[in-house]
Amino acid sequence: MSDLNLVVGAGFSGAVIANLIASELNEKVLVIDKKNHIAGNCFDYRDENGIMIHKYGSHIFHTNSEKVWNYLKKFTDFNTYMHKVVGYIDGIETHIPFNFNTLYDVFPQTFAQRLEEKLLKTFEYNTKVPILEFQKQDDEDLKFLANYVYEKIFLHYTLKQWGGTPKDVDGAVTARVPVYLSKDDRYFQDKYQGIPLNGYTKIIEKMLDNKNIKVKLNTDYKSLKEKKFKRIFYTGSIDEFYDYKFGQLPYRSVNFKFETYDKEYYQSHACVNYPCNYDFTRIHEYKHYLGDKSNKTVIAKEYSEFFELGKNERYYPIPKSENTELYNKYFEEAQKDKNVYFLGRLGDYKYYNMDKAIERAIDLFEEIK
Ligand code: FAD
Ligand code: UDP
Repeated sequence: MSDLNLVVGAGFSGAVIANLIASELNEKVLVIDKKNHIAGNCFDYRDENGIMIHKYGSHIFHTNSEKVWNYLKKFTDFNTYMHKVVGYIDGIETHIPFNFNTLYDVFPQTFAQRLEEKLLKTFEYNTKVPILEFQKQDDEDLKFLANYVYEKIFLHYTLKQWGGTPKDVDGAVTARVPVYLSKDDRYFQDKYQGIPLNGYTKIIEKMLDNKNIKVKLNTDYKSLKEKKFKRIFYTGSIDEFYDYKFGQLPYRSVNFKFETYDKEYYQSHACVNYPCNYDFTRIHEYKHYLGDKSNKTVIAKEYSEFFELGKNERYYPIPKSENTELYNKYFEEAQKDKNVYFLGRLGDYKYYNMDKAIERAIDLFEEIK
């Protein structure tokens, strides 16, 4: 029996488990990734203008977990960036999630006031209401408001992002961006939030910088399938590991179109959503995150599409009941493989934010150590 651990995937999930096994158990770990870089979807780099680019879309760190925050602080400091998103509703640039400030931006003052009073009679101030709940209103004005928010913010964005309406995907998806009965314009209210000062790739580089860890890029698990390892930690897609024997797990993919402009800023915020217009969902402008100074700016337009094997990459598991049922078949199969552990967005087929992927890897380590 080999005494070498194999970690498939050098994203956060793989890097955290590799780091803990190597540093706390003093065991050898081989980390492989089929990409030509570490950090998975969190990969970032400074371009020729000195701007930190998030290659696979904006990544803002946020968590309420002290455990995750303290673990990450061993590898990086963060700035105090708090993410605010704006979007165009009826041609007006306003705040998303929809909140009291949005209300006054999009409606005439007296109507907005009436709606605000009714909202405060119905809900407590500072509560978050998922749109599908918010639509369950009796009052005619609030019914109008709920349908307006559904139509102007959620319906078309969700059609672009998921290829279906908010009712076609699990309610938890749109509940990530609830109607917020507040004047707080931030996208996240977590206790800890920010952007790592030297980027995400540097964090992962430090996690993997250990005498017990060897990293091999451009290496697919397929090429090592016949080899024996002490344990395998697999952060790739679980259906691929089992040669799709029960069928393929569906994913959404994303296509980012990058553009460089000879001006200081392209837009007011790092992320601007276009719920109702154009084919892209949002535009990212990267220099906002770390306050990078340059007389050029780089943006990316985000286009969502279905994942097709061999054509594009897996980005988002699609949370809905039939997909969970299919995933559960693979999960049951995985229980028979005693030295193989699945984790991460693809291994667990879960819509994890970074903090949840990190927490899952730490918890798995605690279980097996
Ligand atoms: P990944 O980063 O996907 O890493 C998996 C790795 O495994 C990849 O590098 C892949 O190449 C490798 N791999 C797969 N199969 C094989 C194989 N067969 N052989 C070898 N290697 C393989 N989270 C936040 O907290 N805040 C955000 O703002 C945020 N924004 C996001 C925006 C977008 C567009 C997306 C898609 C995600 C966002 N996330 C965000 C989520 C975040 O990207 C994930 O939580 C995180 O990347 C999960 O890490 P992971 O290691 O599980 O997966
Ligand atoms: N959403 C929407 N309109 C918006 C923002 C979000 O309809 O302007 C919905 C959409 O279904 C999206 C989900 O809320 O997929 C979650 O949004 P989030 O910004 O959390 O998505 P992510 O950053 O993970 O892509």
